[in-house]
Amino acid sequence: MGTTSDVQHLKFRDPERAAALEHALEVQTRALGRTPVTVMHVCGSHEQAIARFGLRAAFPPELDVIMGPGCPVCVTDVPEIDEAVALALQGVRVATYGDMLRVPGTAKSLADARAAGARVDVVYGVAQAAELARTISEPLVFFASGFETTAVATAAVLLAGPPPNFSVLSAHKYIPPVMEIVAEMPGSTVEGFLAAGHAATITGWGVFERFAARHQLPVVVAGFEPLDILAGLVRLVELIASGEPRVENTFPRCVTREGNLAAQERLWKVFELQGGRWRGIAHVPNGNLRLRDEFAAWDARRRFEIDVAALWDHAPPALVAQCQCGDIMAGIASPHDCPLFGEACTPDAPVGACMVSAEGTCKIWHQYGGHPDLRQLRRRA
Ligand code: SF4
Repeated sequence: MGTTSDVQHLKFRDPERAAALEHALEVQTRALGRTPVTVMHVCGSHEQAIARFGLRAAFPPELDVIMGPGCPVCVTDVPEIDEAVALALQGVRVATYGDMLRVPGTAKSLADARAAGARVDVVYGVAQAAELARTISEPLVFFASGFETTAVATAAVLLAGPPPNFSVLSAHKYIPPVMEIVAEMPGSTVEGFLAAGHAATITGWGVFERFAARHQLPVVVAGFEPLDILAGLVRLVELIASGEPRVENTFPRCVTREGNLAAQERLWKVFELQGGRWRGIAHVPNGNLRLRDEFAAWDARRRFEIDVAALWDHAPPALVAQCQCGDIMAGIASPHDCPLFGEACTPDAPVGACMVSAEGTCKIWHQYGGHPDLRQLRRRA
């Protein structure tokens, strides 16, 4: 007998409902009478689910579902990696997520710094980093990446009173402003956005209303089960067809219009928005989450003299210049447009950040066999 969790999973993976949604998606997309119809999701978890469940086989060939800047590790900018590497090489102990170790900076990654003798700890999250700081006497810097969902956890730890030897180097980023940038990119053909359900759990779906009105583009908030994604896409294509640039929530079991107000209060008590670069994309006004003055005592940027200039004397590895991560995250290229994909750049030897993270498009496409035309394979079988 299945558990409640099994039953929930079956409910969201029901083949009959999936077939009905697949049919609706095909009918709605074809009714638009043009190809391709391009929509973007802004979340590595959506790309993972699409690849893992082979959902592209269910999309009509006229529908191009591309991934945008939804991988927090990938969009961490080179100077931010340089700050962490410089701190580590200066002898400050750094803790961060495993994915962040291999993301290239100007000349080195944190893994390179560790190989050179720096103390770099891998942790699962900010709470574990704070616990580690409690067990040692030396300073510990948590190199924090992630979007607003993860930043709430960082805020909670800082509000709870971390140990005095603990500080945060924030590379946290805020998703709504980068959607503005992507929508305005020259050459962008995106006609609608599938927004990430987990981020909207915090911010609420109302956060996208101004964006939809300003850019006259529909936004649909969707969850991560196969049926969530299919249902979200069906609704998105319907809104494109009817010319309704508004926000719809197809993930009501988790997301409300207002979001999690207690989490938002924590987030904005600790962080404020600043402009900053997202790797390979652009300067994003209000795209970075930085610690407020009240939390300066836990801000690694104000606590340490970080000498990044020493790293800039080194030329970046030659292959890095060919990396197209930025264009991929902006939705104007795919991993197959990169001559290094699967050849000089693999998960074992990544050249760019998109091949490092489990949420990076290149890594996901490499892991799940690139971007096969599953429809064709199915017809041949
Ligand atoms: Fe960059 Fe590697 Fe992706 Fe090419 S395959 S865009 S080098 S991460």
